[in-house]
Amino acid sequence: MNEIARIFETLDYGPAPEGPEQANAWLDAHDRKFGHFIDGKWTRPGKTFSSDNPATGESLAQISMGSEDDVNAAVKAARAAFKGWSALSGYERGKYLYAIARAIQKHARLFAVLETLDNGKPIRESRDIDIPLVARHFYHHAGWAQHLSREFPDAVPYGVCGQIIPWNFPLLMLAWKIAPALAAGNTVILKPAEFTSLTALLFAEICERVGLPKGVVNIVTGEGGTGQAITAHAGIDKIAFTGSTEVGKAIRAVTAGSGKGLSLELGGKSPYIVFEDADIDSAIEGLIDAIWFNQGQVCCAGSRLLVQESIEARFITKLKKRMASLRVGDPLDKSIDIGAMIAPVQVERIKDLMKRGVAEGADIYEPDGQLPSRGCFLKPALVTNVSPANTLVAEEIFGPVLVAMSFRTPEEAVQLANNTKYGLAATIWSENINLALDIAPQIKAGVVWINGTNNFDAAVGFGGYKESGYGREGGREGMSAYLKPAWEKELKAVPVAKAVEPRAGNPLDTGHLDQTAKMYIGGKQARPDSGYSRAVLDPSGKLIGEVGDGNRKDIRNAVEAARAALGWSTTPAHTRAQILYFLAENLDYRRDEFAARLKLQTGEDGTEEVALSVERLFAFAGWADKYDGAVHNPPLRAVAAAMIEPLGVIGIVAPNARPLLGSIALLAPALAMGNPVVLVPSGTSPLSLTDLYQVIETSDVPNGVINIVTGDSVALAKTLAEHDGVDGLWFVGSADASAMVEKASTSNLKQTWTSRGLEFDLSNRRFEGDYFLAKATQVKNVWIPYGA
Ligand code: NAD
Repeated sequence: MNEIARIFETLDYGPAPEGPEQANAWLDAHDRKFGHFIDGKWTRPGKTFSSDNPATGESLAQISMGSEDDVNAAVKAARAAFKGWSALSGYERGKYLYAIARAIQKHARLFAVLETLDNGKPIRESRDIDIPLVARHFYHHAGWAQHLSREFPDAVPYGVCGQIIPWNFPLLMLAWKIAPALAAGNTVILKPAEFTSLTALLFAEICERVGLPKGVVNIVTGEGGTGQAITAHAGIDKIAFTGSTEVGKAIRAVTAGSGKGLSLELGGKSPYIVFEDADIDSAIEGLIDAIWFNQGQVCCAGSRLLVQESIEARFITKLKKRMASLRVGDPLDKSIDIGAMIAPVQVERIKDLMKRGVAEGADIYEPDGQLPSRGCFLKPALVTNVSPANTLVAEEIFGPVLVAMSFRTPEEAVQLANNTKYGLAATIWSENINLALDIAPQIKAGVVWINGTNNFDAAVGFGGYKESGYGREGGREGMSAYLKPAWEKELKAVPVAKAVEPRAGNPLDTGHLDQTAKMYIGGKQARPDSGYSRAVLDPSGKLIGEVGDGNRKDIRNAVEAARAALGWSTTPAHTRAQILYFLAENLDYRRDEFAARLKLQTGEDGTEEVALSVERLFAFAGWADKYDGAVHNPPLRAVAAAMIEPLGVIGIVAPNARPLLGSIALLAPALAMGNPVVLVPSGTSPLSLTDLYQVIETSDVPNGVINIVTGDSVALAKTLAEHDGVDGLWFVGSADASAMVEKASTSNLKQTWTSRGLEFDLSNRRFEGDYFLAKATQVKNVWIPYGA
């Protein structure tokens, strides 16, 4: 080795510490003790807990434990502020957001140092990533505030929003929550995570300094119990939560039936796929960032390496070499790569998970070298020799632990990538654009990075599929999560319908009818599993028909058939449109027959309902190839294609009233967007849908795309809600049954829409547009390198 090479290999870094003086001065100025920020004022610190520096274990400050009374006071203040804040012009609100962005930039170093002290993340990251992105979010949303009325003409803010955030990106998560909420005209109560409240409190001071009207932003600190007081509070109109899937599910259950808006940004176990034709050095650098950024405490961390078998050995060797050069240590040192974990409890949790993984057969590589003698530090770790069932492959570790597996073919890569309950992000490395862009649509995740990783921007939506949650943060999608249609508040409760009593009591009395309509599953008519049928009565109680009494097994069969038909999602939109037009045409041919059947069931002339149903099918046939995504142009060397994708299998439980249109109005948007459907038609008047089988059969609808199960609406809704093969569920029914549906949908976090006992008049043409299209879809943002 020549002298220069020797020096290069052996040269060590000197210390490059960032000074904590200003942050300490700020903490001292507050006597290191903080109350809550409610109604523009600071409360006197009550019961407190310590916020510690995880790199040293030393206490930084005492933080107040938010009580129910504190939450009540914050909700009261936010409610009082809402009227004035939402009445301001968008321009006025935008100016406040702009002022916040400027103030954050002005105090960027203070924020960055305080964040690093409180969280343990390297100053390099808080200084160069977290805080600049925070400012960017407020700038971006200042613009949304101003353009709101033009871009979302029929929308209004929810009102008071409760926002609960985790500890891994304390100020950034605050910005993702507060900026869009305020831009839309909401007021907020935000609870930071118990480990990291300090930058939120500094932010509150910024709100004071820029003269934000009192009560618009309230910061209540505390633990899970304080969060519970927020999610259960009747005076809050929307909950926005970022955190673990476990707590997200608990919040889904608690808010069920409350009518609160809900967005959930939850955990992940994101695949990082490297094909054999990738630029390997770049892929290694990307991987370092994907998994060791923020010590791996990142919801979208690329924690599952999937590398093509042909390059596996070479890739792993290079990776280990690169891992050995990562520097773990004092987060305030500017040349540190890996800082401190958030808390001792988290270090223990990760060590336990690793022990379990090893007991199940995993090998673990950690580079040599010493960790600091105190503080919460862990070495970067690489786990190999694992099967998909290994704990370390299946569980979100939320630490500096990478799990590596190999694959042979692109198909296998996709299978492995999707073999998880999560669906937050994915990374694909390949120099072959055809391959990368072929894989991206097959990955079930809300964000896909091609030849890059961890790109974030305020203009680009971020959020998950499956159990990674729902709702998006950033860009247009993020704004719509803080807005609702203005007309919703005019909805009245559905008057209770008088039950029709059967005239004939004998179940054997089938009148002149000799046939019971069957179910429609997988393109075939199927007898009900129960062997029982249900009477269909006219308004006078006369028996006019019978349908199968569907049960759990029929729903299971229907869901299975629908899942087998998921190829519908990749059927070209033009073809889907043609099939919907064909359905409309064939229904129109038989309009007299359908109108007569409606009259028989409801006693009312059905001509208009049939005409409206045909029109609705036309409307959504028209939408199939027009409800499109967008291309975002973030300030990075990339574009983000916001692709609209279907949810998957959608369960639909249609209203009793308007037996034909009630089903068609919900079926058509779901189908137009590529979702196979399991439909439970009107419980009282299902014959219009059982008559539809022949129309479906003559309209080229692929088998399994429409499945119809007749029976008791609420019982079948419950089965659909509990079924993990159903991705979305729309339910029209009473408030109580809606609450049941929302609660029962918790297990796989399926996205629900329920009518909550309110009179949604589905004949209204407002339902011909994006209201249901948005609910039938989710947005995947695909980041693609672009430009220089
Ligand atoms: P956590 O779920 O334990 O806590 C998150 C927040 O919820 C904290 O403020 C906590 O006090 C509060 N909380 C706890 N129990 C509550 C309850 N029952 N009701 C209401 N609030 C309650 O998560 P964490 O450990 O702070 O953060 C790590 C998790 O966050 C990881 O799973 C990570 O993937 C996820 N995360 C997701 C995103 C995303 O955008 N998808 C971003 C960052 C972190």
